[in-house]
Amino acid sequence: MSENYQSMWQNLGLDLKAHDALLEVLGKGYQDIYLAQKNRPEGMGYFDFVMSEVHGLRIKELLDEKEQGRKIVGSYCVFVPEEIVLAANATLVGLCSGADFAMEEVEKLLPRNTCALIKSSFGFKLGKVCPYLESADMIVGENTCDGKKKAYETLNTLVENLYVMDLPQVKSEKGKALLKEEYDRFKIAMEKLTSVSITADSLKQAIQTVNAKRSAIHRLSSLRKVNPVPISGLDALLANQVFFYDNPARFTESVNKICDELEKRIELKQGVVPENTPRILLSGCPMAVPNWKLPWIVETSGAVIVGEESCVGERGTRNLTDDSGQTVEEMMDAIVDRYFKVDCAIFTPNPDRLDHIAEMVETYKADGVIHYSLQFCQPYLMESMPVEKDLEGKSIPTLRIETDYSMEDVGQLKTRVEAFVEQLK
Ligand code: SF4
Ligand code: SF4
Repeated sequence: MSENYQSMWQNLGLDLKAHDALLEVLGKGYQDIYLAQKNRPEGMGYFDFVMSEVHGLRIKELLDEKEQGRKIVGSYCVFVPEEIVLAANATLVGLCSGADFAMEEVEKLLPRNTCALIKSSFGFKLGKVCPYLESADMIVGENTCDGKKKAYETLNTLVENLYVMDLPQVKSEKGKALLKEEYDRFKIAMEKLTSVSITADSLKQAIQTVNAKRSAIHRLSSLRKVNPVPISGLDALLANQVFFYDNPARFTESVNKICDELEKRIELKQGVVPENTPRILLSGCPMAVPNWKLPWIVETSGAVIVGEESCVGERGTRNLTDDSGQTVEEMMDAIVDRYFKVDCAIFTPNPDRLDHIAEMVETYKADGVIHYSLQFCQPYLMESMPVEKDLEGKSIPTLRIETDYSMEDVGQLKTRVEAFVEQLK
């Protein structure tokens, strides 16, 4: 951190000693995994800076916004529409966490066999190490998987500002009507929180801001179709992770800047890895910061990741919202249309996801798919089997991985990934 933020963290109620320990591990992991990469685009310097200040400058910015009366909203899922948050003059930040913390305390409240993502979110609260969570004026939970919806009942006893959104589980007209009803209810809750009425103008502006951010990420993704690929999967994942924390306009500008640089690299045929390096599509559970374990294993095993079928990736960002509506009602409908297409494994049945994975294999010219499930994540573990069957039916090599946030299985995973990469060669 370039500044001393101790008093800011103290005022947020963080446990300074535990927080220092977390930052040290995060810094070391970043050094070993990210900064050790070779031949990175210069534009990644921006993301290195963002990561070095992820608990510093960005939190200071959020607190400055709060001083000026703006509200901060934290969320755990890509179903929470940023458009509505922005239109109510608030800022949305992601709260999902990608590292184990305070596990002993967590396991007093949650069963041991809960997925690492949920446990980690609790660990960051119980360990008092997440300045985003402590800055939030409203925390939005959502009824997606069983683990999350039951965990929110417990989280509600730990925080005072939890709002829970119900979500459909079936892609039917009834399911869509439920989503619409819940987004309308969320809009009212946001207006109440900020005392700002959402207007057609503010909603249109918010849709355009989020569309611009998603378009920039689409542009980055499309540059990964090229062989040799100009950016590593680790770096592209980082951009997708920062998507959830950064100021939207600055993020858009920074991603577009990197894309300009990558286009020049492509013209010069400058890949981040040699031409014809085996190309992998990752598919499955979202990877929140600092969960870089599997991408790091893949990219140090002779392969390169060319796409993420994930909520921290294309599942979360792929569609834009139609901004042509003239009334709040029309634009709310457009928002519902856009989010209803997200093919999370909590939906039943969920054939769109299978189609999307196969489509991504083709688009990004992937040689194989690694399906990643967190241990104890029923929706993605269950779905990994039909995904594998479907891909094998299309002669697409597939490897199913089940893991957690610990580093204990790194050796074993590396052996399996290396064997898979050999097979692709
Ligand atoms: S995987 Fe499902 S529950 Fe998790 S962030 Fe994505 S949409 Fe939400
Ligand atoms: S990883 Fe799976 S179990 Fe965990 S929160 Fe997401 S959908 Fe639920």
